Amino acid sequence: AKGGAKGTWQRYRPELHTAMNQRLEVRAALHDAIDAEQFRNMYQPIVDLHTGLIAGVEALVRWEHPTRGLLGPFHFIEVAEESGAIVAIGDWVLREALAQFARWRADDPDMSLKYVSVNVSARQFRTPGFVERVREALDAAGARPEWLLLEITESLVLRDAEQVWNDLRMLRALGVRIAIDDFGTGYSSLSYLRQMPVDVLKLDKSFIDDILTSDQQHTMVDSIVALARNLDLKVIAEGVEQTGQRAALAAMGCPFGQGYLFSKPAWPDEIVALTHSVPEL
Ligand code: C2E
Ligand code: CA
Ligand code: CA
Ligand code: CA
Repeated sequence: AKGGAKGTWQRYRPELHTAMNQRLEVRAALHDAIDAEQFRNMYQPIVDLHTGLIAGVEALVRWEHPTRGLLGPFHFIEVAEESGAIVAIGDWVLREALAQFARWRADDPDMSLKYVSVNVSARQFRTPGFVERVREALDAAGARPEWLLLEITESLVLRDAEQVWNDLRMLRALGVRIAIDDFGTGYSSLSYLRQMPVDVLKLDKSFIDDILTSDQQHTMVDSIVALARNLDLKVIAEGVEQTGQRAALAAMGCPFGQGYLFSKPAWPDEIVALTHSVPEL
């Protein structure tokens, strides 16, 4: 087969063949997976670092594959982006997350959970009518716009800024809030941040990983948290795994955290149990 960057002819490699076949199989199966109701949302708590209470949850999609079992996004999101299936999958995730959130609220109106956060791929966002589809999803679930946080990527906010920013402004006018996911891994300049129509920065795990071992990383996170506070943006620190990291973040005044220290992604009934557990301070 022809392969390699320079177009050289290489020895046939069965593992490449298998990988390619797997992608094709995934692509074909993804096509039917929505109608077959094979997607599930798990939810990971976002914790108020001051009170220890769960403030919100992030919906994280899983594919219950008929033969391969429960698959994480790593196994299919990229293929779904390429084929365009991500638009339908993402819309399903949004509708299901809002329906689930409405059920939680109906069961316990006093629960500490204030919102559900949903990942939106660039392709999904750019497919015409996204704002309208969000509005429909809210209506269908009987959900208030304040219950929804949408996570978008830095690169989406930077590219075709005009159209994207208009849609973001419309969503915020509805009352939906916007987070920049994996903040710090892209190229947005901090000064630009002031003008962006967003509410929340999700600080990427790669920043949190080294805050206890690297003075430089600690200073970096400290500065971002301070800047965000000045700009009236909330910060959610991602990938908090150690109590020391949590303490350091709280000391900096970082308001929210998410990570295995608090909980891995969980099923809806597990989330209910977590919201009932007494917070440790
Ligand atoms: P993400 O949006 O950055 O989500 C966080 C990922 O980090 C999740 O992986 C979560 O399980 C994992 N994580 C959370 N806390 C920790 C921690 O303390 N340590 C470590 N090592 N990992 C942690 P997951 O569920 O496998 O999702 C991977 C990615 O797939 C997500 O990254 C997101 O980009 C994408 N994704 C998930 N659901 C959706 C969706 O509905 N739509 C779209 N477009 N993308 C999705
Ligand atoms: Ca996310
Ligand atoms: Ca993230
Ligand atoms: Ca990430």
